[in-house]
Amino acid sequence: METSEPVIKEIDLSFLNEVENESQIKVSACFQCRKCSNGCPMTFAMDYHPYQVVRFVNLGLKERLIDSKTIWLCSSCHTCVTRCPNEIDIPKLMDYLKGKVSTGAGQAAEKNVELFHREFLKSVKAHGRVFEGGLMRGYMIRSGQMWQPRKVMDNALLGLKMFKKGRLKLTPTRIKGLNKVQKMFQRHWQ
Ligand code: SF4
Ligand code: SF4
Repeated sequence: METSEPVIKEIDLSFLNEVENESQIKVSACFQCRKCSNGCPMTFAMDYHPYQVVRFVNLGLKERLIDSKTIWLCSSCHTCVTRCPNEIDIPKLMDYLKGKVSTGAGQAAEKNVELFHREFLKSVKAHGRVFEGGLMRGYMIRSGQMWQPRKVMDNALLGLKMFKKGRLKLTPTRIKGLNKVQKMFQRHWQ
């Protein structure tokens, strides 16, 4: 894991303002106590700790954030939020940053995670909730895994297990307030 701090040449506050205005997360409240990172179960796989991601936003280090694996590896478990003395919503910040990359800010460091993220959002936009069967089909085709027999078999077995437990539907179902969800997508993702 990379933990080195960047050399700061110039602080760009415009990015911090943009993030705070658009996401409504008070990122500037962070005083770098690192409690968030000490409880995060995903730091073993991340290139930067969550407190560093928050720091990069404060310093306007956009390129570091765009190139970072961390934003794609956050599991949204919310442990950091419960530990943060300033209640900074780091998973929401990670999602916001994912959205920035997905909508053209740069190349995702974890391409398959980004692809999964896109397919997930596409499914929620279409049905108001995730249709796992459609999500996995889209992901497998677009990631090229549909032509890897081992991957297909693993996913088919997993799907069968979920189906037996009633966790997988064969057809999508739409929620009642679908138009509200779609309007939200129009506001934030297009
Ligand atoms: S716990 Fe909160 S205040 Fe402390 S470093 Fe993390 S985000 Fe900043
Ligand atoms: S929400 Fe993300 S950053 Fe926060 S503790 Fe969980 S995995 Fe780590």
